[in-house]
Amino acid sequence: MHRAKIKEYFVSVQGEGPYVGYRQLFIRFCGCNLNCAYCDTDFSVSGDYFELSPIELFNLLNEEKMFRNIHSVSLTGGEPLMHVDFLKDFLPLLGGKIPVYLETNATLPEKLKEILEFVYIISADIKSPSSSGQNLFDVHEKFFEVCRDKNVFIKFVFDNNVTDLELKKVCEIAKKFNFELILSPVMKNNKPLVDALFMQKVLESAVSFYSKTRLIPQVHKLLDIE
Ligand code: SF4
Repeated sequence: MHRAKIKEYFVSVQGEGPYVGYRQLFIRFCGCNLNCAYCDTDFSVSGDYFELSPIELFNLLNEEKMFRNIHSVSLTGGEPLMHVDFLKDFLPLLGGKIPVYLETNATLPEKLKEILEFVYIISADIKSPSSSGQNLFDVHEKFFEVCRDKNVFIKFVFDNNVTDLELKKVCEIAKKFNFELILSPVMKNNKPLVDALFMQKVLESAVSFYSKTRLIPQVHKLLDIE
């Protein structure tokens, strides 16, 4: 059985997007295929982590009663789809009783195909060239083709460097697939890095391209919750 490097697992509050406020079990996988300028997540294998088989992780979570009273299991990272061989064995262990919520950078469409049937909600990022250093719009579209019939929303994290062209492109993609678009400002010290006026300008501009757009900051950071 495939083992995966897992940075941490914990129960907390979902702080992003339309499911904000729900109690979830988070499983954070090590490693990511991108290197975004604003990334503040520790998914490295340089510090502590667990190396577990699917059944070992499932038993641990069960023993620690982590499946109790949760809305869903959030697979996060890093990039959880880098661990698809592990997930193919782990997700069936949940027996379809607990919804699976995938947080992904939406760049690995072939990996997504392998576990799509087990996933209920997809929180999919679109990365702009100004944050990721590369143009990923085509690969994002391939990803969304794979999951177009699923319960998907798009998250777009922005800072002062976002351009109108990038914003327009993100809106065009969200519109093409009819997915809700969530704009999320980069946070620093638990506050948005950009000022209120700029956030309103970005929202106004995005809504003029695509009306199914909302501005939602990382609420867990505002509340100072992990
Ligand atoms: S995709 Fe997410 S986890 Fe990976 S580098 Fe970018 S922000 Fe960090």
